[in-house]
Amino acid sequence: MARPHPDAGSRGNQYPIPASMKAWVLGGPEELSVVEKPVPEPGPTEVLVRVDAIAVCATDIEIMRHGVPAMIDGGLPFNRGFTPGHEYMGTIVKLGPTVDEFQVGERVTVEVHAGCGRCQRCREGMYTSCLNYGYRAKGHRANGFSTDGGFAEYAVNNINTLAHVPDDMSDAEATLVVTAGTAMCGLDVMGGVIAGEGLTGTRDRRLEMGKRLGADHIVNVGREDAVEAVQRLTGGRGAQYVLECSGAPKALNEAARMVNRGGRICLAAFPADPVPVDLAYLVRNNIYVFGIRGEGKSATHRAAALMAQKRFDAKLIHTHTFSFAEVPTAIRYARERIEDAIKVVVQIRET
Ligand SMILES: [Zn+2]
Ligand SMILES: [Zn+2]
Repeated sequence: MARPHPDAGSRGNQYPIPASMKAWVLGGPEELSVVEKPVPEPGPTEVLVRVDAIAVCATDIEIMRHGVPAMIDGGLPFNRGFTPGHEYMGTIVKLGPTVDEFQVGERVTVEVHAGCGRCQRCREGMYTSCLNYGYRAKGHRANGFSTDGGFAEYAVNNINTLAHVPDDMSDAEATLVVTAGTAMCGLDVMGGVIAGEGLTGTRDRRLEMGKRLGADHIVNVGREDAVEAVQRLTGGRGAQYVLECSGAPKALNEAARMVNRGGRICLAAFPADPVPVDLAYLVRNNIYVFGIRGEGKSATHRAAALMAQKRFDAKLIHTHTFSFAEVPTAIRYARERIEDAIKVVVQIRET
């Protein structure tokens, strides 16, 4: 099969690429401003993505307030011209040298982590646990965490972080693929397919959405004790698996009391402060605890496939849309859950 010339990406490009772009950058804590930045250049194994839409994630809000879990050159991400945002999608507008796995003009959604590809963990396929985390010169990227993210007009992505977006999937829906991928990765790590999955939360509207998305049971922990509810729903046997996505300080101790002996807990959120844990309870009951940092094991590709097959209707959780200029408002809606906001999307490219 004839392959395009390795420099094909830079010739005959129907997408004119300006020298500079608008990008939101983080100053001090919770200080965002728009600056003009050079459009980044994709290297080998990379492409330039024109960002079309981005969703606001609870982790973005953590990063803007506390810095962690983002880290730039080993330090907090404040006042370094850092652009946050990791749940974005867009259109490939330029290919780096040797890239022929994707085409200019292709719509893609992104996952966060590109491992270095050379450390022990990357070689084991655990690229979200890359031992060169944050070491840009060794090839590691985690856009929106250790390298620039998607609250900008353009971003550079490693080709391993891209998943194709079908024509009939909207920009907003495609931004939600990485979120679904993280949940799927959690299920993988715990070693299970969950039949009869449950869901807890504090807001009825969110929980109602959980039911429409296929949860068998929903529990409002504002009105009912979550541990008692799980014990009631499982006839006192406890759950096999708990996927913890809230980051609440008491969540691990509660999860431990929801699972049965030998059960598995996967932690997928970031509490802001150290949390006291009843370790003796975990040990006495042979409970396995796993931490995952986002989507691993190419779970994003499986999430994208399920969403393309309409097996999981992510549109249900998308509640609000804002423009590029309204990024601070979008973040406020997500943070304060104004009008019961669930997933807030910023349409970066005007349609
Ligand atoms: Zn996220
Ligand atoms: Zn690595």
